[in-house]
Amino acid sequence: MKNLYELPAFIVSRKIQDQEISAEEYISIIIERIREVDSKVNSFTSHNFEGALTMSRAIDKKIKEGINTGLLTGIPVGIKDNISVQGLKNTCASRMLSEYISPYDATVVSKIEENGGIIIGKLNMDEFGMGTTTEYSTFGPVRNPWNLEYVAGGSSGGSAASVASLQIPLSLGSDTGGSIRCPSSFCSVIGIKPTYGSVSRSGLISYSNSLEQIGPIARTIYDLVPILNVISGEDPKDNTTVHKKYNYQLNTIDNILTKKYKIGVLNEFIDGSEIEVARASQKKIKQLEDYGCDIEDTRIPLSEYALASYYVIATAEASSNLSRYDNLRYGYEGSPEGYEWNSYFSESRSKFGNEVKLRILLGSYVLSAGYFGKYYAKAQKIRSMIKREFDILFNKHDILLLPTMPVLPFKLGEKTSQPIEQYNLDIYTILANLAGLTAISIPAGLSEKGFPIGVQLIANAFDEQKLIDAAVLLEKAEGFETWIPEI
Ligand code: GLN
Repeated sequence: MKNLYELPAFIVSRKIQDQEISAEEYISIIIERIREVDSKVNSFTSHNFEGALTMSRAIDKKIKEGINTGLLTGIPVGIKDNISVQGLKNTCASRMLSEYISPYDATVVSKIEENGGIIIGKLNMDEFGMGTTTEYSTFGPVRNPWNLEYVAGGSSGGSAASVASLQIPLSLGSDTGGSIRCPSSFCSVIGIKPTYGSVSRSGLISYSNSLEQIGPIARTIYDLVPILNVISGEDPKDNTTVHKKYNYQLNTIDNILTKKYKIGVLNEFIDGSEIEVARASQKKIKQLEDYGCDIEDTRIPLSEYALASYYVIATAEASSNLSRYDNLRYGYEGSPEGYEWNSYFSESRSKFGNEVKLRILLGSYVLSAGYFGKYYAKAQKIRSMIKREFDILFNKHDILLLPTMPVLPFKLGEKTSQPIEQYNLDIYTILANLAGLTAISIPAGLSEKGFPIGVQLIANAFDEQKLIDAAVLLEKAEGFETWIPEI
């Protein structure tokens, strides 16, 4: 018999609602599991164990009274440390915010709690979400549960590694240029970047507002869909959210097969990846073909300019967003006493790590008079053109398929001091952010040496249902749960 922490969330939640087990028992088991495993993985930045136990008792009480407790009843959820949870630290893995306690809940957090979910703690990340490996954290790097000497991917490394190592069944991450999908791929879990405007960003500490979205990570699509339904929706606190009915379904295979999805395969990207990554993508294409999907080759001609465009826009927005941490209004709490004006700000701003400083410099440069037209305006033009290319592709295809990452996970430290090499790894994930689309990373098997590989599916804005359907097919074809690390 499996341990409770190994089971999918939806199964445990059912047991809790049927009073087969109590929410309190389950949370206690999860806490024990985190204590046992996380010293190796380093996925949490802080815990909310007392709060979680209190919440679990309240849920048990409601269940006894016959009150409906919601879609996530009794399920612990970990939250990336840039998403606000009232009363908990919200550090963004930065020295700048090391003592900052959030005075309010992000909308997504309130929604999770309203649906019976239990916030279990905050999760490690690259500082302010800037990175691809979760090595740029003041809490130290997250380790890949498949091999503790390897990177877990980033920037939501804690969100993926905690779920992959069976500490928690669900987490939230944020994805500005791949930060949910990259670690999902490197850790063999499933992570979705929702369409821009479908999930509220209220309470997310901004890195690059026009690119980022909050999204969930799980071990199976059957756990991912309920939490996606919970967090999606219009929010008066975030003007970019779109009014729509968000009601994603877990359809049956028979129902999905009648839809005869047209899959556009981005072969250029498959060929440009490490051989085992390419092979894994081919295998997934074959499985979809066997299910009767229509497979066609396709390409995005302008994609070669995407990376440059992304890093200009992301750093420009970051430089503006991070200017508020001046140690007077926001940021590290010091005192200006004994300083003169300039040295006080220099001292304050030195609390940022090197990668963040690099991005602020880059972003300020591309926005400066004289260079604005040359870099920033041009990057925005490319962004619009890429969006138009996608519009054309989605007239022909329902879903685009490509690898999530061009490479397998690599050793910790291998690329830490090579920013450009790291930026290049984002080449397949940034496309969906630039165009505001939805994209999912799905486990695609293991390499010969036992490292996870992910395949990425991209769909048009608000077409999450297509990605979910395809994920159901792929999960059925092989069963993601067969890929669990021993730790
Ligand atoms: N690696 C990308 C970056 O550093 C994406 C990060 C993210 O999605 N937050 O910008």
